[in-house]
Amino acid sequence: MKESNHNNCSFCGRSIKQVNMMFNGMNAKICDLCIINGYEMINENVTSRSSFDISKITLHKPAEIKAFLDQYVIGQEEAKKISVGCGLQPLQKTYSCQ
Ligand SMILES: [Zn+2]
Repeated sequence: MKESNHNNCSFCGRSIKQVNMMFNGMNAKICDLCIINGYEMINENVTSRSSFDISKITLHKPAEIKAFLDQYVIGQEEAKKISVGCGLQPLQKTYSCQ
C-alpha cells in the first residue's frame, strides 16, 4: 500500500517513518535530514564566500575608543561615553572610560 504524500517531507519526499523529526510549516513539511543538508550547504557557501575571520578582530577597550574619538571630536563628552557603551549602566560597572 502506497503511503500518502500528505505527511511526507515537502523537499525530499521521505515519510515521517523514515526520518527522526518532521517540522510542519504553513503549507509544507521539512524533515531533520533536509534541515541538516541545508545547514551544511549554507555553511559551506558562507565559509567559501566570506573573507570574514572573527579571530582577526581586534577589540578595543571603551577608554581606547574614547581616546581615539577625542582626537577628532571636540566636546560632546556624554555622546562619546554613550557611543562606547560607558553611558550604559551595566557597562559602567565593567568598563571604565577614564
Ligand atoms: Zn526531507
